[in-house]
Amino acid sequence: MKLNLEVTAADGKARTGTMQTARGEIQTPVFMPVGTRGSVRALTTHEVERLESSDGTTPEVLLGNTYHLMLRPGAEVVAELGGLHRFMGWDGHLLTDSGGYQVFSLDPKVTDEGAKFRSTYDGTAHLLTPELAVVTQELLGADIQMVLDVCAPLPSPPEVLQAAVDRTAQWAERARSAHERTHDQALFGIVQGGDIEDLRGQSARRTVELDFDGYAIGGLSVGESRERMLPALAAALAELPANQPRYLMGVGDPVSIVEAVALGVDMFDCVMPTRLARHGTLLTDAGRLNISRAEFTRSTEPLEVGCPCPTCVRYERGYLRHLSVIDEPAAATLFTLHNLTWMLALVGKIRAAITAGTLSALRAEIGEVWAGSGPGIHKS
Ligand SMILES: [Zn+2]
Repeated sequence: MKLNLEVTAADGKARTGTMQTARGEIQTPVFMPVGTRGSVRALTTHEVERLESSDGTTPEVLLGNTYHLMLRPGAEVVAELGGLHRFMGWDGHLLTDSGGYQVFSLDPKVTDEGAKFRSTYDGTAHLLTPELAVVTQELLGADIQMVLDVCAPLPSPPEVLQAAVDRTAQWAERARSAHERTHDQALFGIVQGGDIEDLRGQSARRTVELDFDGYAIGGLSVGESRERMLPALAAALAELPANQPRYLMGVGDPVSIVEAVALGVDMFDCVMPTRLARHGTLLTDAGRLNISRAEFTRSTEPLEVGCPCPTCVRYERGYLRHLSVIDEPAAATLFTLHNLTWMLALVGKIRAAITAGTLSALRAEIGEVWAGSGPGIHKS
């Protein structure tokens, strides 16, 4: 299921357009909210479905984490219940990761065969191989699945990064051969190479040689500065086919998104907006807002004037601060509704700026408001 990106407008290397899947169309650039265990934390699927920014941008793709779903409830259980879409009651697009990112964070024993790890749920031993990652994601049935890759931490010495590129390429080839559900499920290859531009280029060429349905850039925003991240990203993008989607994994802070779009990235995911929401931090056009601050005790303002989210339409800062201070569970829901709506609005603005040829002005504006906020956090 090769995904073809139809570009409708470009501004420099940035592009906006549509990609066609077996399920339908996805508008790009796209931000994909993370639904780690089959649910976007603090929200129900019908709440996610109703999200819409004032310019009509909606959540088109949700991300599920294979590591968690293969352990709880198990990929076979999800398959028996009709696949992940039906399981969680979501008719939109789904993308699953390979499980590798979580497994590698558990310090597994890695061999050519795969990665041996212990479940964080019950301590049982598991071996995740490139083939098992594919089969598991076929059972889950997302529209897009990812190959199992090796993500080296940063900083790492060049030989460690080269070894990760080599093993990622070998595993990618095995994943490609194992992929059978090709009629309705796209498989993306992943570019590694750390923060070394030559390695990023090499990894991208080796991945493209295997001919995937789309391409992801992994292993960035893992602690390096944005100044190191962007050249490594550009080196990878230079080798990727222009007519296929490019997905920057786990990066979702506003500055990194708009800068990556300017380099030609189409797809993003990040837990940052939902995680910040659960900690009472709101994304607004003026920057981050910590709602629990005393100054909001008697505030009758909405979180953000003009925001069409259910939280801003109905409630005032004074009440929302109260819910946050008393740790009311509904606060997490209300703040997540707002932060995801804000992310959709950001993406809508980026699409409009590309079409109008004004992306550099938007980059300057976002850079000014969000200066000092680091690249996104990947884990959930
Ligand atoms: Zn809002």
